[in-house]
Amino acid sequence: MGPRDGLRQHVAGRRQVAASPQRERPRLRDVAPVLFVIDHDQASLEVLVSGLSRRFGNDFSVRGESSQEIAVTALQELAAAGRPIALLLVDDAAMGTLACAQKLHPSAKRVLLVDRDYTSTSPAVQAIALGRADYHLVRPWADEESMYGVMTEYLSSWTREHEPRFEEFRIVASEGDSRVLRLRDVMTRFSLSFGVYGAETEVGRRFLRQADLDPTELPAVIRYDGRVSIDPSLPDLARAIGVKITNDLDTCDVAIVGAGPAGLTAALYAASEGLDTVMLERDVSGGQAGTSPLIRNYPGFPHGINGAVLMERTCEQAWLMGAHIVFTQQAVALERHGDARVVRMSDGTSVSASAVVIATGIDWRRLGVPPLEKLVGSGVFYGASVGESRAMQDQDVFIVGAGNSAGQAALYVAKYARTVTLVIRGDDLANSMSNYLIRAIESTPNVFVRHHTEVIDGRGDGRLESITLADRSSGTVEEVPATALFIMIGGEPRTQWLPADIARDPEGYLITGRDLRERPEINWGRDREPLPLETSIPGVFAAGDVRHTSIKRVASAVGEGATVIRLVHEHLR
Ligand SMILES: Cc1cc2nc3c(=O)[nH]c(=O)nc-3n(C[C@H](O)[C@H](O)[C@H](O)COP(=O)(O)OP(=O)(O)OC[C@H]3O[C@@H](n4cnc5c(N)ncnc54)[C@H](O)[C@@H]3O)c2cc1C
Repeated sequence: MGPRDGLRQHVAGRRQVAASPQRERPRLRDVAPVLFVIDHDQASLEVLVSGLSRRFGNDFSVRGESSQEIAVTALQELAAAGRPIALLLVDDAAMGTLACAQKLHPSAKRVLLVDRDYTSTSPAVQAIALGRADYHLVRPWADEESMYGVMTEYLSSWTREHEPRFEEFRIVASEGDSRVLRLRDVMTRFSLSFGVYGAETEVGRRFLRQADLDPTELPAVIRYDGRVSIDPSLPDLARAIGVKITNDLDTCDVAIVGAGPAGLTAALYAASEGLDTVMLERDVSGGQAGTSPLIRNYPGFPHGINGAVLMERTCEQAWLMGAHIVFTQQAVALERHGDARVVRMSDGTSVSASAVVIATGIDWRRLGVPPLEKLVGSGVFYGASVGESRAMQDQDVFIVGAGNSAGQAALYVAKYARTVTLVIRGDDLANSMSNYLIRAIESTPNVFVRHHTEVIDGRGDGRLESITLADRSSGTVEEVPATALFIMIGGEPRTQWLPADIARDPEGYLITGRDLRERPEINWGRDREPLPLETSIPGVFAAGDVRHTSIKRVASAVGEGATVIRLVHEHLR
């Protein structure tokens, strides 16, 4: 029995109870947001429309079409009438409508309905990786709950984005004020509800008047209780949000520096295992992971998860376990006082710990093109995400970077993609890439190199569609279609604040564990072996991106954050 047969049985069992699409309540169907189903299989369509009507009919109008042409016309009419589509459920045979639907109804959640086929050629693989669909559903489904339960989740995500929200903060600023980006970033990382209003607009002027503010005092941050900060510094803002920015513990079992995935996980495990834990973060919670709109490779989230949400939940969990979390407090020095390790902070205070975990990550170089930053995770990727390569089948892919990792990624992705273009600023790869890679690139017919070129802009509605390239030698600018852009322009580990004698590799990453013993120039000076993840200073550990040979992935940082606490226990014993 094939998957369709299974579905037909399911359909047959339900047909007599299914409401027909025509039986929707007349008032609702004219005003409510629409759930639109396109399914070539008439029987399956009926089941879906009746099931959705039963479940969601009080809040949404449900409509179904089996013909792609009729569906597209209906979607055009709905767009012209200004009716929002909340969810578009499309079977794989009608996948072509997704691109057009995206243009007509950019805020609709797009769900692809596919037959069960766990091979890399399933249409769901490419559609999700390239941001053509937000979610997928597999048929046949075992029971109603497994089908409509996840649908509830997708719809609540649409509702959250569209319903009016109580705003904890209102930011009033002049148009184009770049300080707003910073304010937005901090509020997003704490999952705060906020609105941004132009100081020149009527509503912006009204908020300034209500708060008794001079219209030149900008950007103004107005809290729900009327408290106002003008152009707040990061600590001012953190204070207004209600997080701790000073440390009140002189001593602790473990001090953790850096609140990215590695540090937050270490704090969670340390506190949950009864260690007095202080966590210091120079900025606010989340690290690099917190800046990623969509992390696609974190286990357990097949449709990806917003990095700020994942990190905020981890931070909340560490706090509930009892970790003392201090934001906007940079660690500026590490000292040895006998067995104690002392971390000095930017406000002049210090904390003495029996063990220290350094989880300060890397300063990734960013492309700095705002429209492309918005598409990170939806066609734009930092670093080589080899796992995405299969999804690049027959696509046009661009890689920015001239180092060995960019070269290796180009060759790997070229096995699947139609074309891979390396975009490099210089006029020769030989300055930065190994010769063997250059030769391999030259002999791979679908890999191209664009010299003295920079990516200066990009476009896409929810997924990358094109990038703009500027050729600095000819002065020409060209917009080219692009399905994916991998940015591999390197970064620098944040280890400058550490003592000069802590062992680092030539790039500044911290050397740990067995790697210390393989380097005769490093004087370990203890009669025991260094523990895995222990640096050349006993009792000081490193976890995550900052560590030499680390994997530079969220899940690996989380893994090291959990592992390092087991090693801290061993050290304390
Ligand atoms: C845009 C982008 C998208 C990405 N997408 C993905 C993805 O989809 N999947 C994936 O697996 N990986 C992704 N990565 C990589 C991933 O984010 C990192 O591998 C991961 O965040 C590393 O975690 P970490 O805790 O080691 O360091 P970080 O996340 O860098 O956190 C380090 C923290 O330490 C703080 N800090 C630094 N110095 C100090 C100091 N002196 N005192 C106090 N605090 C300090 C920093 O402010 C920061 O908060 C992405 C990276 C970027 C830049």
